[in-house]
Amino acid sequence: MMFFNHQDQYSLCVKCGKCRPVCPVFHELNEEGASPRGKISLVQALLENKVEPSRRTKRFLSECLLCAACVAVCPNEVRTDLLVLSVRESLADYAGNKLMETALIKGVFSKTDISFKLGFAVEQAIGRKIESGSGMFYRLPSNRILPELKSAKFSISKKNTHTHKTKTGFFLGCLIDFVNHDIAEDTITLLEATGKTPFIPRDQACCGLPALSMGDRRQAAKQAKAVMALFDTAETVVTACGSCGSMMKNYYPVLFDDPQDKENALKFAAKIKDIAEVLEPDMFQNTGHSSGLTTYHDPCHLKRGMGVAKKPRTLIRAAGYEIAEMQSPDRCCGLGGAFTIKHRTLSSAITKEKTDDISSTTAATVATGCPGCMANISAMLIEQGRLQVKVVHTVRLLVTALKKNTAV
Ligand code: SF4
Ligand code: SF4
Repeated sequence: MMFFNHQDQYSLCVKCGKCRPVCPVFHELNEEGASPRGKISLVQALLENKVEPSRRTKRFLSECLLCAACVAVCPNEVRTDLLVLSVRESLADYAGNKLMETALIKGVFSKTDISFKLGFAVEQAIGRKIESGSGMFYRLPSNRILPELKSAKFSISKKNTHTHKTKTGFFLGCLIDFVNHDIAEDTITLLEATGKTPFIPRDQACCGLPALSMGDRRQAAKQAKAVMALFDTAETVVTACGSCGSMMKNYYPVLFDDPQDKENALKFAAKIKDIAEVLEPDMFQNTGHSSGLTTYHDPCHLKRGMGVAKKPRTLIRAAGYEIAEMQSPDRCCGLGGAFTIKHRTLSSAITKEKTDDISSTTAATVATGCPGCMANISAMLIEQGRLQVKVVHTVRLLVTALKKNTAV
């Protein structure tokens, strides 16, 4: 079933081609079919029954990072990302999702507690026995996509002492809950510095973005309803992950056919805030130290999905850091969720452009607002032996400055 009117969208495309130069996939493949304009033409041809749905068309439409760079430059604001997502749903129904995709959607991301325990056991038994610098590590097909799992999810661990309902909810998202507990702790520190005590539900799970990006809107809608129910009493729901934030803010309202569900999703979307949006620069002023040169990577979903790009920079500068901008700080890092698994060579080529851009700034630190981008960029820097560059979440820089400030 389609979840918005495609014809309204593709008929807006005037085939001007302004979207082509900004598309990272087109930049690598240099084929019209890989460009946003080409994808829109393919969607149109499919819906007007001029071409048959096939595994080949499915592949073309899977070659999209959903980075929305094309949407940002389009004079008619054609939502290529939504067109691609909705047709992926039809093609998944037609061709059936492959075994791995179905396992990821129905297993890993829908039952995160079980997946976590299983993943941790497998990682302990196999993955961690291989040294991260060894040749074997670099030969592992998954060395860029399997981060080190913690022994317990943050939300259910003893570290989560924030289980009483308050007006400010904190949605962790899978990576922070499973891997990056430091980001959770830093976000809590910052929220508490603003006088807000966050509420972190123990039974939180995946936001549903992986299911949606693989064409399973029904599963994504089910997960969205579960997330919304957890935070029903919160006035604000904070995230420190641009991808989860954008999913909840932009995609939840288009997941549902039922008008009441849609209205609930719209109300919930209005509560979503990235951590940078709830902080003020004067929290970090008078820090009185020079914290060094950093560069900032704009996560696609944070900048174009949530409209958050200036604020993290303002906060980083207020915390005493100098920012050396990349040539293209908002160019996708090549992760794109399942894109990095399905199109590894292409994904790596896009990531290498990002790490080259980072290196050209000479900054020793790259800050960003999405743990997915962090893991992806960091893994490529390690693979390239550029070990002098550290990848951190913006909240790490801010907490460091805050602590130095209070120590003075
Ligand atoms: S920029 Fe917009 S109108 Fe122009 S080709 Fe791309 S999608 Fe179509
Ligand atoms: S969303 Fe990104 S990858 Fe997909 S067509 Fe647009 S620019 Fe290209």
